[in-house]
Amino acid sequence: MNIRIGHGVDFHQLKNGLPLILGGIKVQSSKGIIAHSDGDIVIHAIVDSILGALALGDIGTYFPSSDSKLKNQSSHIFLEKTITNMKNKNYNIANIDVNIILQSPHINPYILRIRKQLSIFMNLDIEKISIKATTTDKLGYIGKHEGVMTTATTLLIKE
Ligand code: ZN
Repeated sequence: MNIRIGHGVDFHQLKNGLPLILGGIKVQSSKGIIAHSDGDIVIHAIVDSILGALALGDIGTYFPSSDSKLKNQSSHIFLEKTITNMKNKNYNIANIDVNIILQSPHINPYILRIRKQLSIFMNLDIEKISIKATTTDKLGYIGKHEGVMTTATTLLIKE
């Protein structure tokens, strides 16, 4: 079988006054993500899912938070390097399905822009990129607007 599936998950804390960048798009929000890089939690989960599909470990193996060169780094660099690595192994993305779990703000008005931006970063048809958003119905740390979570599932097909 020349298909492989991977699943990525990421969590970050939220803090007042920091930027919230999701899939390369800056989202209007009172709180943003605490992270070593730009904290693009959508891209982090996608990278993790591609690495997982290829059984190559996790995002921290390739882009460790201990690496001072990666401080405030735009996460699309991680994505582009991971896509290059994947193509070198003769795999292409069949489709990606992402969930963003965040209490506020509402992400739906940004979804098309996020899909378009990811389509550019990955040189991938927008129809292959699904972005969904939900809340936890005010339950737990996400519901209290203290944190955010993403998941990504990616299917790869060998050329
Ligand atoms: Zn992350």
